[in-house]
Amino acid sequence: MNRFASDRFDVCVHGRGAVGQALALSLSRLGLRVALAGGESPAATAAPDVRTYALSARSVALLQQLKVWDALRAARPPVATAVLDMQVAGDAGGALEFSAWQQGVRELAWIVDAAALEREMETALRFAPHVSRVDAAVPADLVALCDGRDSPQREALGVEVERVDYGQRAVAARLHCDRPHLGRAWQWFRSPDVLALLPFDIDDSRGYGLVWSLPQQRADELMAADAAGFEAALNAASQGAAGTLRLAGERASWPLRLARASRWHGPGWVLLGDAAHVVHPLAGQGLNLGLADVDTLTAVLAERAAREAWRPLGDERLLARYTRARAAPTWAMGQVTDGLLQLFAREGAPWRELRNRGLGLVDHVPALKRWLAHHALQG
Ligand SMILES: Cc1cc2nc3c(=O)[nH]c(=O)nc-3n(C[C@H](O)[C@H](O)[C@H](O)COP(=O)(O)OP(=O)(O)OC[C@H]3O[C@@H](n4cnc5c(N)ncnc54)[C@H](O)[C@@H]3O)c2cc1C
Repeated sequence: MNRFASDRFDVCVHGRGAVGQALALSLSRLGLRVALAGGESPAATAAPDVRTYALSARSVALLQQLKVWDALRAARPPVATAVLDMQVAGDAGGALEFSAWQQGVRELAWIVDAAALEREMETALRFAPHVSRVDAAVPADLVALCDGRDSPQREALGVEVERVDYGQRAVAARLHCDRPHLGRAWQWFRSPDVLALLPFDIDDSRGYGLVWSLPQQRADELMAADAAGFEAALNAASQGAAGTLRLAGERASWPLRLARASRWHGPGWVLLGDAAHVVHPLAGQGLNLGLADVDTLTAVLAERAAREAWRPLGDERLLARYTRARAAPTWAMGQVTDGLLQLFAREGAPWRELRNRGLGLVDHVPALKRWLAHHALQG
């Protein structure tokens, strides 16, 4: 990575998660001088991230522009798998199926190894012109906070966060299966837990990424269970629909919340990714939203360079364009994921009937299905 003298940078990006890395790469392509602040990348230091991310078409397009996607696709063993169809099941017979063929696209999404994604971005950053890695904040015209859901920098600015803790944890792991995945993703709304199996090419296409959102106590029990106990619970929950599942490695779990910062920009600063908004992972959209933030901020700053270069990068009017563009899609995703979760958390026959009929109804209204798929694909 290039190092500049200690003079001022155009942008200081805080946070070396996927959103901060993508932003640094993207802004360096505009010719801006970027400082990327934060310790070692999580991919280099922490225990390997066992998550697999579902990435939308828009996220993949951004990674292509950043010259990261081709490396991910070329990696061996594979670290990216196409989703060709998806089965969603309710808790009383309701079902919904999406297929790439029906939607007229090559794939519904890509399932990507979380650690490999950060690693490839780290490699791209090493070759990126205009990016310097720094240990702490440096003077810059714009400070971009991508330091995650508990953003210390956001706290320091006194930005309030509206937050709902779900009292749930998401358990993630890699799984082996006795059958090939055939590109199919599975999701069960089991009331109160949500179980997702994401096709992933380990073990000759006989693998899945697991995201299982459960009430805190049940998640703790499953994390404490031995492998055989965990696998028995998992196979009981999935009822063998995808085949018999076995753990392929460690489990890890994350607390779940819905959160939204009250302000996303101010004079000389802007929030992106989980620092600005956190959604439940049931729709696999948190990172997609963060990468769309990156795309939008880059477009706003590119437009400034073309038409109003006199405006400082930290100009509030400029940054307000970014906030306005991102407010509605991120709010809508928060509402959809929260609404689904609340609907499936309700006890009682009428609610069960309503949600399962709802799934069946969507399955039979092609326009509504197309609309849902389009929003999931575009992130
Ligand atoms: C189980 C699970 C499954 C998920 N699945 C999906 C999915 O399928 N698809 C999807 O789109 N999203 C998914 N998500 C959401 C996704 O993980 C997050 O939205 C995404 O990781 C947010 O990226 P980020 O870079 O904003 O934050 P983070 O990944 O949290 O990165 C923040 C970075 O900032 C660093 N940092 C912290 N403090 C400071 C500081 N003071 N200075 C500098 N750096 C600092 C941290 O070390 C970290 O590296 C999932 C989430 C979970 C929990």
